[in-house]
Amino acid sequence: MHGVDMTPRRRRNYNPQLVSSTRSYSTEEVCDLFEVHPNTIRNWRDKGLQVIDDRQPILFHGSDLKQFLKNMRSGRKHTCAPDELFCFKCRLPQKPKNNEFILVQSPGGQRRIRGVCNHCGTVMNRAVSSKNIDKLPASFCIVTPQQSNLKWE
Ligand SMILES: [Zn+2]
Repeated sequence: MHGVDMTPRRRRNYNPQLVSSTRSYSTEEVCDLFEVHPNTIRNWRDKGLQVIDDRQPILFHGSDLKQFLKNMRSGRKHTCAPDELFCFKCRLPQKPKNNEFILVQSPGGQRRIRGVCNHCGTVMNRAVSSKNIDKLPASFCIVTPQQSNLKWE
């Protein structure tokens, strides 16, 4: 039986390959898979692991779990890839939905790109310098809020 896990560093490399992205997992199944205490799963949820909405008992989608573990493993929790923005709700870098973004300019002249989190729908912002604005990933698609069905506020 597991005691309360006070040593989260005991086993840091949870292999994302153990997770099948085509199925969902209960908390218990995730605990069994990685030999961790449910407190660890709670901790992962605090760190942004998403649950499948409105299901009791709680279920995790395999693809979410896999991605979460990959992010944790690579330790790039706060470092966005070029095609990601930081989502404060997920507390992880996330891709913008549809790869759509809008360009906003603050009164101070700072330009930002704004995207909608692909995961939770939260609006995400990233400052861009005018120099970098030409270097946005080719997959990104600039839109106006009118052209898009997404909620930008
Ligand atoms: Zn999010």
